[in-house]
Amino acid sequence: MTGEYLTNFRHELHQNPEVAGEEKETSSKILAFFSELNPDNMIENLGGHGLAFIFKGKKPGPRILFRAELDALPIIELGQPSYKSKVEGKAHLCGHDGHMTIICGLGQKLALQRPESGEVVLLFQPAEETGEGARRILDDPNFAQIKPDFAFALHNLPGFPLHQIITRKGTFAAGSTGLTISLTGKTSHAAHPDAGINPAQAIAQLIQTLPKLPEKFQSFALVTIIHVEIGSLAFGTSAGKGSLSLTVRSFDQADLDSLIEMITSEAKRIASDEKLGIEFKFLESFAVSKNNPDAAQIAEEVMKEQNLAISESPKPFRWSEDFGLFSQSCPSYLFGLGAGENCPQLHEPTYDFPDELIETGVRIFEGIARSQHE
Ligand SMILES: [Zn+2]
Ligand SMILES: [Zn+2]
Repeated sequence: MTGEYLTNFRHELHQNPEVAGEEKETSSKILAFFSELNPDNMIENLGGHGLAFIFKGKKPGPRILFRAELDALPIIELGQPSYKSKVEGKAHLCGHDGHMTIICGLGQKLALQRPESGEVVLLFQPAEETGEGARRILDDPNFAQIKPDFAFALHNLPGFPLHQIITRKGTFAAGSTGLTISLTGKTSHAAHPDAGINPAQAIAQLIQTLPKLPEKFQSFALVTIIHVEIGSLAFGTSAGKGSLSLTVRSFDQADLDSLIEMITSEAKRIASDEKLGIEFKFLESFAVSKNNPDAAQIAEEVMKEQNLAISESPKPFRWSEDFGLFSQSCPSYLFGLGAGENCPQLHEPTYDFPDELIETGVRIFEGIARSQHE
């Protein structure tokens, strides 16, 4: 079992990407990898294509969970690695192939030497990119078997020096949600708009007012308009329906919830003034990722012992991570692992996970796993 074995495994995953909810083959590959490691217990089809492998120590102790993500992105890869994606329009451009490989490497270490006490759970969650996977894992009745005392995860971060740890006390990454507001009026002849109910004015008002609502908050909150649609390209018809889609984000879960509340009541008020029907649809919701102080201490002691460069991020990241939902349900810790200052950003078409990070990730996670067991 060499580093090369893991690197080749990462390349194999990279070549065969599957997007959120479709991670069947990826899940089979992980299952095959672990079948040689004889975990003490495993759970298949967890919240979809999710998997969990459990390695038990001889003595009782805390249960520690490490999380990786199974899904790739619906983006065309424009980089030219020899192991480029074989699937048209899909690619591992967030490095989840690397994160999975790190957890596989940790599995190898635990197979060679079980933890002294307690349990280690290696979790592969589906559908991280759409914010659905963590919810499905937590809602799966089998999650009770692996509900951890502490949960850990890392995400590689381009723009930071290779191997550097990027950490933060409290909120690490924002919570966010997509929201589509649909308005229904009544079409009429374009010559007689007064005979119909056209949602254009209401949507114009919403575009003006909703992005200003975060000004009412002391800490960071943001409303970003992402899509607008009114009527159709029929010049003889006054529009009878329309929709506005936006993304709402904040560093604080309570702020996020009250901002959403403000948006929906403002939208309802405007719709009612204009006599429009209104419907809300929430999509791609991510909870705030919040680092627990005890979990942070466990991880950061290991990082210091391993002489890793640790940089404390002055502000939380504005993007969201599905791991946030774990952090709302048990003591958790999410940290960044620098992917190099010149590495293309996550989700860019030329991004590729740096293989050098596999060993670093395995070493940190193994340190954390064993720190509670010796
Ligand atoms: Zn991503
Ligand atoms: Zn990611």
